Amino acid sequence: MKSLTASEIHTIDTQHIWHPYASLTHPVPAYNVVSADGVRLQLADGRSLIDGMSSWWCAIHGYNHPVLNDALTTQLEQMAHVMFGGLTHAPAAQLAKRLVSLTPEPLDKVFFSDSGSVSVEVAIKMALQYWQSQGRPEKSRLLALKNGYHGDTFAAMSVCDPETGMHHMFKGMLAQQVFSEAPRCKFGVQFNPASIDDFEAKICQHANELAAVIVEPVVQGAGGMRFYSPQYLAAVRELCDRHNVLLIADEIATGFGRTGKLFACEWADISPDIMCLGKALTGGYLTLAATLCNEKISNGICQGEAGVFMHGPTFMANPLACAVANASIDLLLDSPWQKRVERIEAQLKVGLAPCADMKNVRDVRVLGAIGVVEMNAAVDIPRIQKLFVDAGVWLRPFGKLVYVMPPYVIDSADLNQLTSAMVNILSQQSG
Ligand SMILES: *Cc1c(COP(=O)(O)O)cnc(C)c1O
Repeated sequence: MKSLTASEIHTIDTQHIWHPYASLTHPVPAYNVVSADGVRLQLADGRSLIDGMSSWWCAIHGYNHPVLNDALTTQLEQMAHVMFGGLTHAPAAQLAKRLVSLTPEPLDKVFFSDSGSVSVEVAIKMALQYWQSQGRPEKSRLLALKNGYHGDTFAAMSVCDPETGMHHMFKGMLAQQVFSEAPRCKFGVQFNPASIDDFEAKICQHANELAAVIVEPVVQGAGGMRFYSPQYLAAVRELCDRHNVLLIADEIATGFGRTGKLFACEWADISPDIMCLGKALTGGYLTLAATLCNEKISNGICQGEAGVFMHGPTFMANPLACAVANASIDLLLDSPWQKRVERIEAQLKVGLAPCADMKNVRDVRVLGAIGVVEMNAAVDIPRIQKLFVDAGVWLRPFGKLVYVMPPYVIDSADLNQLTSAMVNILSQQSG
């Protein structure tokens, strides 16, 4: 096959290819990237950018990592894929054992799937099948938090923030879930017990029809990049127990160290009944997700009417993805990841501090390897994107949020270039 010129790629891209949340009648040109190495993305036009996004929380070790490359090619020589119905393999067994030992007890059953959204679908289905098995089919709704984000498939969408998730557009097709106010108690601030009142009222009122509560522990990601008090999460766990409602923790963004703990549930020292993992699971190499549950759930499901759990993706437990996930977890645990995340956190706090004094900025917040500047008004993404690229950095704001979450291996000079670009460019934005 003949290779394409940059201009041919541009033409095909704008005429035929959907990008995330994008228009094909008013396409915004995408930057053409030819390779990536360490924390740098190499553009086709010769420029190289420092990556501040970890490709949406995933690339925690940076790109083109020799250990991860090696894990993939070694597995490739054994097999790229086999069906998981009736067959099993070492990469999946190893990964399941790892996940069971690393996640909070007593999570010990693992369902592998191919993306975060699907792992959320699976989690919701587990909760529904569990209550059916208990003779409580009326417990079929979910309680979620405003400002939440859990993915783009239909059940996942039904528990996303109703406004930013544009629920009105899918009226009639989306399950009608119950929503509580987003947590108002910020991370690191004295917990005000009144901040759980709305959640408590909702769970009390709807307990008889609720299958589960679903939350992103401590960090609400794509629905607002908000950090809330671990005591709120602990109170959620307690209220779920008191009202006989299951708890689903969506750790797809927070898992594998991003917040400074391996899993954000550890901040509150709680264990959910069901946990979703994805994103950094493979170090950003391949698409893979996992839904873990405890034995209460798995026993319930298997003693129910169906006797089995009704799900089975074609690419379930893909061996290449499992092999690279195993290598990524080893790499993480053998590295001083906690120190690295702490160092990034400290540097982000200092580096982004000047933004707090800008008139167009509402809030600056940092937790672990996540730095967020919330503006007063939505930024003009294509325009600001170009300014960042011209400054040699890759940042992808959305709405009012300009944020950075670099690979953990970033050094302080590169991180300084990222935060300096944010300070310089944001100081020139109006609004
Ligand atoms: C990204 C994300 C998802 C969806 O994962 P996909 O792999 O994009 O389907 C779900 N929940 C959270 C918290 C996420 O950050």
